[in-house]
Amino acid sequence: MSDKYATTDAGAPVPSVEHSLTVGSDGPILLQDHYLIEQMANFNRERIPERQPHAKGGGAFGQFEVTHDLSAYTKAAFLQPGAKTEMVARFSTVAGERGSPDTWRDPRGFSLKFYTSEGNFDMVGNNTPVFFIRDPMKFQNFIRSQKRMAANNLRDHHMQWDFWTLSPESAHQVTWLMGDRGIPKTWRHMNGYSSHTYSWLNDKDELFWVKYHFKTDQGIEFLTQDEGDKLAGEDGDYHQRDLFTAIEDGNFPSWTLHVQIMPFEDAKTYRYNPFDLTKVWPHSDYPLHEVGKMTLNRNVVDYHTQMEQAAFEPNNIVPGTGLSPDKMLLARGFSYADAHRHRLGVNYKQIPVNEPHVEVNAYSKDGAMRIRNATDPVYTPNSMGGPEADPRRASEVHWASDGDMVRSAYALRQDDDDWGQAGTLVREVLDDEARDRLANNIIGHVLDGVKEPVLSRVFEYWKNVDPDLGKKVEEGVRAGG
Ligand code: NDP
Repeated sequence: MSDKYATTDAGAPVPSVEHSLTVGSDGPILLQDHYLIEQMANFNRERIPERQPHAKGGGAFGQFEVTHDLSAYTKAAFLQPGAKTEMVARFSTVAGERGSPDTWRDPRGFSLKFYTSEGNFDMVGNNTPVFFIRDPMKFQNFIRSQKRMAANNLRDHHMQWDFWTLSPESAHQVTWLMGDRGIPKTWRHMNGYSSHTYSWLNDKDELFWVKYHFKTDQGIEFLTQDEGDKLAGEDGDYHQRDLFTAIEDGNFPSWTLHVQIMPFEDAKTYRYNPFDLTKVWPHSDYPLHEVGKMTLNRNVVDYHTQMEQAAFEPNNIVPGTGLSPDKMLLARGFSYADAHRHRLGVNYKQIPVNEPHVEVNAYSKDGAMRIRNATDPVYTPNSMGGPEADPRRASEVHWASDGDMVRSAYALRQDDDDWGQAGTLVREVLDDEARDRLANNIIGHVLDGVKEPVLSRVFEYWKNVDPDLGKKVEEGVRAGG
């Protein structure tokens, strides 16, 4: 017998958790059984809309500690030497729904929220340093092409390759995806990248462009296609289980944060457009600088309130950090907050997992599920001593921009093309075995339903990335695998 008694949501003791109130043992149920009605009504409302992409995921709480001095580049308090900041991380697949297997081939989301002393800082990254597209106008269609068809509600490789081969800027990311890192062994064994270029501001008001790289301290490990397929059938929650169990066992995973730093002026003349999300900055041009370590050490106690309702958004930036002219990043600033308002309601930042660990003096007011009390004055300017903006404290990042209004691709730089960096990955980073696995993964994927005219474009696409790889893919597909 428990020493706790069951209550209604209003805290009153419930008379029974087994029997509804009826007229006689066999008689009809009475409407005044408000506990039964509360149970049924709440159950019907348990699910909230799942995230559109990145629906399947999990994560944990932890701490970020700065171990190196990069104060010459940023004045952000949480990036100063010795600073320790509480944080939460969420990892996810992109295309699958909330119940889909963890081990499908897909990029992985790598979202972080740091509860800094200057407000929340979020990095909404992936386990890849690049992305499939560079203009947000294509994003919605890209995701639709990876999800399900209208008539039969099936995923379809033909549709995926149709989109990719008509969008050559996808080549770098698709090469990555079809390679070993397309199915990480666990979330603990993958890196996280900001992918986007962000900015840092130092105490002399000097601006730098930065890319964040969270490198796994567990080492990179991956699953082969066969291993991933097998696990998808045997344990669809394999990655979620792995992270939870590791933390329960006191085996806390960690990642070392490095950044690439580009002086502000370099961006104007760099051989690649440094804001193009389909490109990396080669390490030889911009080496990694170590910053600190993130360790996940605390599991959630309620998945729904602490993970399903966790809301990450690129617009959560703090003084000393900022965005960049990356078109995808600027659009994500709108779309993430908009998605949260849709899924969680306008006051989603008052849900404890999203609440900053600092005083909030916002002029936002009311709305559904408002929990924090508003205080007078509720408007500004006012003559009652209400909070005032402090531009020096906010240190907003600014950059100059000029030109006619156009709808156009980024202006091409000396080394900008859609195939070059993908080819470098194939030829200079992968070894023979990894190249073989890449070719076989592509062949297997394509043989699963890709037809003409897309098929011919697939061969052309890979020949553009690397002639040998393209030849191998064509031969393999024509031979039937
Ligand atoms: P480097 O030789 O300095 O870096 C290559 C990087 O590739 C490694 O540091 C590693 O990144 C990553 N890598 C290793 N194995 C794989 C794999 N199987 N699949 C995907 N990535 C892998 O060369 P560059 O900086 O000149 O970049 C060359 C190519 O490497 C790029 O075109 C890009 O495709 C890829 N790359 C580059 C990164 C960058 O930021 N410069 C980051 C990651 C990949 P890590 O150490 O981050 O694990």
